[in-house]
Amino acid sequence: MTANIIDGKAIAAQLRQQLAQQVTQRVAQGLRPPGLAVILVGQNPASQVYVRNKRSACAEVGILSKAFDLPPETTEVELLKLLDQLNTDPTIDGILVQLPLPAHIDTQQVLERIVPDKDVDGFHPYNVGRLVLRMPQLRSCTPKGVMTLLASTGVTLEGLDAIVIGQSNIVGRPMLLELLAARCTVTICHSRTKNLANKVRQADLVVAAVGVPEMIKGDWIQPGAVVIDVGMNRLDNGKLVGDVEFSTAKIHASWITPVPGGVGPMTVASLLENTVQACQFHAG
Ligand code: NAP
Repeated sequence: MTANIIDGKAIAAQLRQQLAQQVTQRVAQGLRPPGLAVILVGQNPASQVYVRNKRSACAEVGILSKAFDLPPETTEVELLKLLDQLNTDPTIDGILVQLPLPAHIDTQQVLERIVPDKDVDGFHPYNVGRLVLRMPQLRSCTPKGVMTLLASTGVTLEGLDAIVIGQSNIVGRPMLLELLAARCTVTICHSRTKNLANKVRQADLVVAAVGVPEMIKGDWIQPGAVVIDVGMNRLDNGKLVGDVEFSTAKIHASWITPVPGGVGPMTVASLLENTVQACQFHAG
């Protein structure tokens, strides 16, 4: 058996096209386009690439992105002041602070300063709490993107035994909540989990978000399981690989995401989707 490949690049492009149509319709009705503030503190090269991609994706769908490229020595007070201004700016629907922030800035303080209805990354405790209560508003972009990818397969999620490997606040935990809301039975694993291989072997759906190249071995995958690889790991030779051993996993799985071209493009598309949603909320 060879798995069907879940083409995140194509699915994200389709979503961007739908969003572009929605934005065009808004503007044709005389309404303002959605606005996204993208804040980058410092000069982390990977962050610069992510921010550039997000800004160009905004331009593609007609979202106005406002760039705030701040020097590395920006203080927490200065950043919080900027957030206060953006929170009340009527042309801004979404505020994105690119992580990681420099060590002298308290990330949690910053994320909690963004008003929840402009929190398009879905990281604010209010938005996470709404997901816990099965009343989601702005959902974390990567897990939301994974749910869009899963929907594209047509596989019924209800009743599946799912495993999420990784329990970070931005991927693993909201992923657990998304799958639970879809009525999967979910196991979540982390670095202290015992017998990981055996747990993966029992899963109908595997979501890997660890950050360790190819640590989920292909022969752990149950025949017919769906495999979503969130991991993005750059090897010394420059190659980008996921957390799953793709070459062997695809022999066992029914559906699998590649790296690159799987979850990555969907994260950005979900950010745009959240921004359009926030705009509809703010501006009607
Ligand atoms: P993170 O904050 O470093 O969390 C990693 C998680 O993996 C932790 O919960 C950790 O457990 C667990 N873990 C580490 N080693 C393990 C092991 N040997 N066995 C089982 N679990 C283990 O990472 P993250 O931010 O969630 O990101 C995870 C991966 O996804 C990275 O490769 C990142 O680049 C990628 N990512 C991709 C996208 C995208 O758009 N495609 C978005 C975000 C992240 P403990 O909690 O016990 O330490």
